[in-house]
Amino acid sequence: MNAEIIAVGSELLLGQITNTNARFISNQLSELGINVYYHTVVGDNVGRLEEAIKIAESRANLIIFSGGLGPTKDDLTKETIAKYLQTELVYDEFAMKSIEEFFAKQNRNMTENNRKQALVLKDCDVLVNKHGLAPGMIFDYNNRIYMLLPGPPKEIEPMFQFEAKPKLAARLHKGTKIVSHVLRFYGIGEAELEVRIQDLLEHQSNPTIAPLASDGEVTLRITANAENDEQAWTLINQTKEEIISRVGEYLYGVDDDSLSSKVAEILITNNLTIAVAESLTAGLFQSELASNPGISQSLLGGMVTYTEQVKKEQLGMPDEILEQFGVVSAECAGAMASLVKDKFNSDIGVGLTGAAGPEAHGDKPAGTVWIGIAIGDDKPHTYRLQLSGVRNTNRLRAVKFAFHYLIQLLSEKGYSKI
Ligand code: ATP
Ligand code: MG
Repeated sequence: MNAEIIAVGSELLLGQITNTNARFISNQLSELGINVYYHTVVGDNVGRLEEAIKIAESRANLIIFSGGLGPTKDDLTKETIAKYLQTELVYDEFAMKSIEEFFAKQNRNMTENNRKQALVLKDCDVLVNKHGLAPGMIFDYNNRIYMLLPGPPKEIEPMFQFEAKPKLAARLHKGTKIVSHVLRFYGIGEAELEVRIQDLLEHQSNPTIAPLASDGEVTLRITANAENDEQAWTLINQTKEEIISRVGEYLYGVDDDSLSSKVAEILITNNLTIAVAESLTAGLFQSELASNPGISQSLLGGMVTYTEQVKKEQLGMPDEILEQFGVVSAECAGAMASLVKDKFNSDIGVGLTGAAGPEAHGDKPAGTVWIGIAIGDDKPHTYRLQLSGVRNTNRLRAVKFAFHYLIQLLSEKGYSKI
């Protein structure tokens, strides 16, 4: 199966939005082993859309459209396709009911063009829209599949992943099951990770292994296809074990885990409490950690100790440390961790200090960060980072590294990691 993705929307051509839908769908299709040879972008214009369909038909047998399913005048994708394929549009009862319910619930008047959103190509396979009003469609015609999906990412992404993808998979591998599992790594670069598992990458067939790097994290998606779930998981687990034996120390989580959710999970399940003193990150560590439900039993609180004076007066930082080692130092980060731990009477204290950039801090270049972690009565552990991003990237990376080191330390102490 060869696919072409046609994103419809003049705002894409005007440079007002980025075509993230094509990126998302392409990535999903690659997991199914479907080749994507072309991405097309076309404005909200009937003639040019027809032209784009004609060209796509000459080179693809799966044509996926994104956008233009809404209620307004410029939303013309399904009307154009219906006319082009010489079929008609009919009202989908389920979609119509959902639209009516939506307006009733909101106490809003439903206009005629809202009804238009319930129109679908006659005899298509309707894809339910759980996050919006316009349903998607899969339409078979002349040995080609035409798939129509809504424009908003929060609608198209779940619709493709949970409605369309299984249907495509079923057509591709009749009677087989496709299962994916994501391994998440931190503290190792994409290049190094690939070198360490190079032979596995070179000899992959089933399962396949797809690396992806973003925001300083690297993930490996393992995808297996087999007769049933159990067999697929056996294949996945064999590959997972092999990967863990090579780079397991950098693995922090799987699937939807994030560094902060993993930290939260370990703290909560082990009844550990934490307090944080932040300088360059100014509360970011606590904010990220607080995004996890249930964290109130573990995150006692913390302080933003930005200036030296506040470090001394509020946290009790000894003058000697600042005078002898400076504020961007292992000694300062370690002391911040210990002092905040004692002040809040928590099990764990974390301190973050550094030069976020763009200026250096004295003789410490921009991007120099020290992280201190104090657990129980141990001498605080300290870690130095030399980051090379812009200011806010460095601040975010510092937080991620602090989570990463905390996970590593806690797992060394026997608190479960995976
Ligand atoms: P709606 O019912 O919201 O009008 P629609 O299916 O008609 O949805 P469009 O009107 O084409 O879709 O786009 C709606 C919004 O979805 C756009 O303003 C944009 O924010 C987003 N969007 C559309 N196409 C893309 C794309 N290719 N990539 C990322 N975002 C997109
Ligand atoms: Mg629209």
